[in-house]
Amino acid sequence: MRNFCRGVVLKVFYPMLMLAGAFSKDNKEKLQLFVIDISNRLVRAKGVKTEKILLLLPHCLQIGNCDVRITHNIYNCKGCGRCEIKDLIQIAKDNNLKLFVATGGTIARRIVEDARPEAIIAVACERDLISGIVDTYPLPVLGISNERPFGPCLDTQVDLTKVKEAIEFFGKGRAL
Ligand code: SF4
Repeated sequence: MRNFCRGVVLKVFYPMLMLAGAFSKDNKEKLQLFVIDISNRLVRAKGVKTEKILLLLPHCLQIGNCDVRITHNIYNCKGCGRCEIKDLIQIAKDNNLKLFVATGGTIARRIVEDARPEAIIAVACERDLISGIVDTYPLPVLGISNERPFGPCLDTQVDLTKVKEAIEFFGKGRAL
């Protein structure tokens, strides 16, 4: 039932909201965040328990002046610690997760098809998150917005506590 509700929110309510008016970029982001939050709550309420988790990251988490190419293989990271990619690799190793960087919606879809996860933890901006969540429905996705202290798409960050909490949620199938 909760998955059905999530479907209605993502496939009916969200497109109608987007059609309903011309939103400014700020308002659109707030609205997208609102829908992501509802979707997250419904996933949590359903209580999904699985170890087949895919952690999907945006390329902009990699610091701009790092010359290591991680888009095809995140494990090319040298672990220098100047950005959170190092920590996220460690988190993925500790929890035996599949970990990928997506540079766009098409790549993200391909990663999901290949990885065949039972649950996804996605980090991205609100626009990319909501489009990924809609695309992958009915797969359970917990979306986490990235932090953008330098503006969009540049040296973004993520609250690692939120990532760890999402992993624990899927691991236990319920909120802590
Ligand atoms: S941790 Fe260092 S090597 Fe790895 S992606 Fe970030 S800046 Fe590059």
